[in-house]
Amino acid sequence: MAQWQGDSDEGIDYMFKIVMVGDSGVGKSQLLNRFVKNEFHMKSKPTIGVEFLTRTLVMDHKLVKAQIWDTAGQERYQAITTAYYRGAIGALLAYDITKQQTFDHVEKWLDELRIHADRNILVMLVGNKSDLSSIRAVPVEVAREFAQQEGLFFLETSALDSSNVESAFVGLLSQVYRTVSRKQI
Ligand code: GDP
Repeated sequence: MAQWQGDSDEGIDYMFKIVMVGDSGVGKSQLLNRFVKNEFHMKSKPTIGVEFLTRTLVMDHKLVKAQIWDTAGQERYQAITTAYYRGAIGALLAYDITKQQTFDHVEKWLDELRIHADRNILVMLVGNKSDLSSIRAVPVEVAREFAQQEGLFFLETSALDSSNVESAFVGLLSQVYRTVSRKQI
């Protein structure tokens, strides 16, 4: 179970490891920036070196710390290492609604998650860059239907204008919390 222990996180009731996956350029780093720091950068710096960011939330009167891992551009140069997935209990799988290919690759990312993380990992599929819907390539209905078939949660987001970013991360974390706290009863 991806519940952390032995950290200096006094007062934290739960620590969940969440991984970001999806093709390069879909906006993973900016979604994370928006959720953790409420920032957005149009020209993303390469994220080499940054492993994860954290944000603590209150859920059900419990302190829940999310440790959210970014690929740090690994997907661009080489395969993502299995260590990246180890212990992850949830994933945010992003594609770019203006780039069909990034949606076509979602299945590949799902396979990778289910092999290297946990067969039952909870996944939030996000169609990012919804601010660019005038040049959309992936219809929202197609993505929603795919998510339903695969048992994924689904939202369209924009890291640029903040739309649904909080809902995507918090929605995923709430489901993780529900699953973990249910198991502990
Ligand atoms: P990553 O490779 O998946 O981590 O993608 P980045 O977060 O580095 O973003 C790639 C590019 O897309 C950058 O130029 C971002 O500024 C841009 N971008 C990210 N999210 C959005 C968004 O929601 N809307 C728009 N219009 N651009 C975005």
